[in-house]
Amino acid sequence: MIQEFTVTQTCIEQASAAQAANALHDFIQQHAGLMLLTGAGISTDSGIPDYRDQKGQWKRNPPVQHQDFMKDEYTRQRFWARSLIGWPVMRNARPNEAHHAIADLERKNVCQQLVTQNVDGLHNKAGSDRVIDLHGRSDQVVCMDCGQSYSRDWVCDQLATLNPEFARLTASVAPDGDADLERDDFHHFRLTGCQQCGGLLKPDVVFFGDTVPRDRVDAAFQALDNADGLFVIGSSLMVFSGYRFCRKAYELGKPIVLLNQGVTRADELATLKLDASCSDTLSELMSLLR
Ligand SMILES: [Zn+2]
Repeated sequence: MIQEFTVTQTCIEQASAAQAANALHDFIQQHAGLMLLTGAGISTDSGIPDYRDQKGQWKRNPPVQHQDFMKDEYTRQRFWARSLIGWPVMRNARPNEAHHAIADLERKNVCQQLVTQNVDGLHNKAGSDRVIDLHGRSDQVVCMDCGQSYSRDWVCDQLATLNPEFARLTASVAPDGDADLERDDFHHFRLTGCQQCGGLLKPDVVFFGDTVPRDRVDAAFQALDNADGLFVIGSSLMVFSGYRFCRKAYELGKPIVLLNQGVTRADELATLKLDASCSDTLSELMSLLR
């Protein structure tokens, strides 16, 4: 049950980076020690595609569902075949200005705890240490039977060796960047199992239709409890796993600031909503904080 209290709402629509950075700077002066929550919008500048448009609708075919992956071998064959093409793009992605600014906010103690919905590991690459990877990490693979973990690189190498015809295809398709590959012969794709028990391997990522492990959610709620406010960057918050932290912050009477291009599900709960570019705004903010 959300308690009723009045929030003083400010919404800057279509803000310039300078306007948004100034408003953020004022906010940070009043509320240091924030929990940051990031989403796909901060990684698009690193070449990692976003799933949703500015209205929060699907841009692309919806991603693989957990139950389909677990139950259907053809879904797994298709997933891993496409992964041979898509994974190198993800692995080679570099952090952008937004990730570097967020790492800086941690060093300045503005960011007490970072919680990310992204699975790309770019916050770690940028130097953030206090990160909760809410939805897991795409560079890790886990056995769904015994829990043994593997690196995604190792699994993809195994699959490339088992499927040279698909690995060759990788070379011809990769320059396009995207892995929206449709073929009708994925059933020829040979899968690899766990080395320990032969079990089913899955990226250590919370797929759509699955739930976030309880210990990660609890750690994030604990961090929110200790924080002076919540700062959401680059997420439309359409998925409940992220949205719930806005609900909780609102219940606790903690201020919420949203920086996102386009609508978010939590616009009504925000103290400050900034509709502006994440990387440009954060870069401007860092020069104000220097
Ligand atoms: Zn196993």
